[in-house]
Amino acid sequence: MKNNEIILIKIGEIALKGLNRRMFEDVLKKNIKRKLKKIGDFKIKYAQSTMYIVPKDEDADIEKAVEALKKVFGISAFAKAIEAKKDIDDINQKTVEYLKEELSGCKTFKVEAKRSDKSFMMKSPEICAVCGANILENFKNLAVDVHNPDVVVTVEIRDFGAYIRGSKIKGAGGLPVGTGGKSTILISGGIDSPVAAWMMAKRGVKLNAVHFASPPYTSQRALKKVVDLLEKIAPYTGAMKMYCVEFTRIQEKIQECCPEELFTIIMRRLMMTIAEKIAIKTESKALITGESLGQVASQTIDAMVCTDQAVSMPVFRPLIGMDKEEIVSISRQIDTFELSIQPYEDCCTVFTPKHPKLKPVLKYVKRAQEEVDWSELIDQAIDECEVIKIGYDKKQ
Ligand code: ATP
Ligand code: MG
Repeated sequence: MKNNEIILIKIGEIALKGLNRRMFEDVLKKNIKRKLKKIGDFKIKYAQSTMYIVPKDEDADIEKAVEALKKVFGISAFAKAIEAKKDIDDINQKTVEYLKEELSGCKTFKVEAKRSDKSFMMKSPEICAVCGANILENFKNLAVDVHNPDVVVTVEIRDFGAYIRGSKIKGAGGLPVGTGGKSTILISGGIDSPVAAWMMAKRGVKLNAVHFASPPYTSQRALKKVVDLLEKIAPYTGAMKMYCVEFTRIQEKIQECCPEELFTIIMRRLMMTIAEKIAIKTESKALITGESLGQVASQTIDAMVCTDQAVSMPVFRPLIGMDKEEIVSISRQIDTFELSIQPYEDCCTVFTPKHPKLKPVLKYVKRAQEEVDWSELIDQAIDECEVIKIGYDKKQ
């Protein structure tokens, strides 16, 4: 760690909010605090649309904090910085010391100045000119390029200090988790649903999860894969509970009593019904799935209409218009892909019919489903479901 190094965080979309902006800022601050608590003792201060993260002692590791902050929604960009006196000589001296490594290793730079303290004696263009000249003098390898520089050196003159920073680090974007209500993700071990969960969390939604398992057709290892996937996205989504529902008896009953071509659609309607009941119990306002239009038979518009009619809650499908390639690209970015492609069974594929109906008609689906009284099986599945905690600290 470089001496006196701090982190400056730029809030993203929150800056566009109106009267309720304060609420978004407070949630973001709380989320950052919770995350950094695990790393060390940091002071968090918020002023003039910037969050200041200041280590309180030697053990508070800035590099670890940087890695953790990359996974906090609501941050568009951040940077490591140091504080200088509001004095141009001190700023010049500290710039050369602090950015030595970064500036020695590149060819072009520019200086940007932000002067929110209007009492500072130099205006922004003058700060840029003076600091730029100082950098050129000290780094013979460098030339100025205002259009496409390798490094942008930013000097900020704020009310309570001057700050110097080098390259920006990209944040996760989106809105702070907890500002967008709570929803329940139907999570499988596939590629799509973890991406769908991540995308909704990115819009500020707090999650809990429902997973359907059908032992002995699906194994403990398949269940562990789902838990591992949620653990992977938990640094973004925050801690959540996963409700693991044993689905075996219901699936066997479907196979026994329903027309084969409707197995999948009836199964999906029952999944939705159970997920909705769990969502209501846990104060979730909507359901989320990883469906994408036309990907498989159960994801045609007709099939999705039939599934949605099983519940009264809205069903969000953030991947609906995405190609598999686009979904895979996000799953690689959030590092779930390698886990998702591990070949473990899912209850959805256990009793797949040879020729599922591509355009199921609600009236007929309902009629077939009503041949059985599912209520007892549904209640039992919910009563017996196992709750698994994801992303909680060990002591929690
Ligand atoms: P995924 O890659 O997310 O598994 P998929 O393309 O394999 O999706 P399906 O198996 O048809 O598609 O599942 C569609 C959606 O249904 C999933 O994205 C997920 O939201 C939900 N789902 C599928 N299987 C399960 C399960 N075992 N438990 C809970 N939800 C599930
Ligand atoms: Mg699947």
